Amino acid sequence: KEVLLEVRDLEYSFDTYAGEVKAVRGVSFEVYKGEALAIVGESGCGKSVTMHAVMKLNPEPPGRLKGGKIIFDGKDITNYTDREMQSIRGSEIGMIFQDPMTSLNPTMTVGNQIAEVILKHEDVTRAEAIKRAKEMLDIVGIPNAEKRIHQYPHEFSGGMRQRAMIAIALACKPKLLIADEPTTALDVTIQAQILDLMKDLQKQFNTSIIIITHDLGVVADIADRVVVMYAGKIIERGTVDEIFYNPQHPYTWGLLKSVPRLDAKNKEKLVPIIGTPPDLFAPPVGCPFAVRCDYAMKICYEAPPEVTKESETQQVACWLKHPYAPKVANPFGMGV
Ligand code: SF4
Ligand code: MG
Repeated sequence: KEVLLEVRDLEYSFDTYAGEVKAVRGVSFEVYKGEALAIVGESGCGKSVTMHAVMKLNPEPPGRLKGGKIIFDGKDITNYTDREMQSIRGSEIGMIFQDPMTSLNPTMTVGNQIAEVILKHEDVTRAEAIKRAKEMLDIVGIPNAEKRIHQYPHEFSGGMRQRAMIAIALACKPKLLIADEPTTALDVTIQAQILDLMKDLQKQFNTSIIIITHDLGVVADIADRVVVMYAGKIIERGTVDEIFYNPQHPYTWGLLKSVPRLDAKNKEKLVPIIGTPPDLFAPPVGCPFAVRCDYAMKICYEAPPEVTKESETQQVACWLKHPYAPKVANPFGMGV
């Protein structure tokens, strides 16, 4: 498998009047060509900040890259300037966000917005760009593309706007599509349609996808692998099957119990995770999840858990994996 994006030991902070917020604290992952990776966690876990750091979309200051390396398609983009990033954003990396209204331009027709992206990055005529815009609307399943390209975003429904945004993001056939909570604002049926569309397009264009979400439910159908973040760190990672059928970290168990799943098989009862994530001005020295964890031991408060390998693809940072730790029944899988 070929690596498209590699993030190594990323550290990212925000300098505020109250002090340094250590939002991302040593995060490493890679995205392979053609795969869909999900980055999952509650709001404030650092998942969006991580991807915005990769894309250089965090406001700097107060944001500040403290350490780490970002390699995209063989190029070290860690210290790219905003101008250098602009040449990549939209052409090699497309982005879609939760609320299309904030990223679509309300004063420009949808067709022109797609054409604009193409004209910015490719040497084509305006007529050619408009023709491609129409094709893109067809591809993302917007009916009457001929007419729709002349309409403004407010003339589109929520689901259609999200499709339009996907059309913009994919207009230049990027190698990577980053989707930050792409379906959160949509109702469940439309949500499923948009996820299906993304999955189809990923196959069709062989695009890699990073999907950022707080909702493990949306991950099952689209992701190949899952990274779970908590308090600025990755606490578990694995294939989608490993995370759903044999999760090892108590926080992942909590997430699985607390989110409604699109497949709606486990409608039983949703149990929220009690408590709030730690203060990132002064992150705990031990496991960041300790104060909320039903299984916390003394050592959990004293030292950060080591990362252990559950399989070639699954890793977990939890003291329960230590050989001397008490055995705990895994509520989801084959035992810890
Ligand atoms: Fe819970 Fe300890 Fe594991 Fe953290 S390291 S998740 S506190 S058992
Ligand atoms: Mg976010």
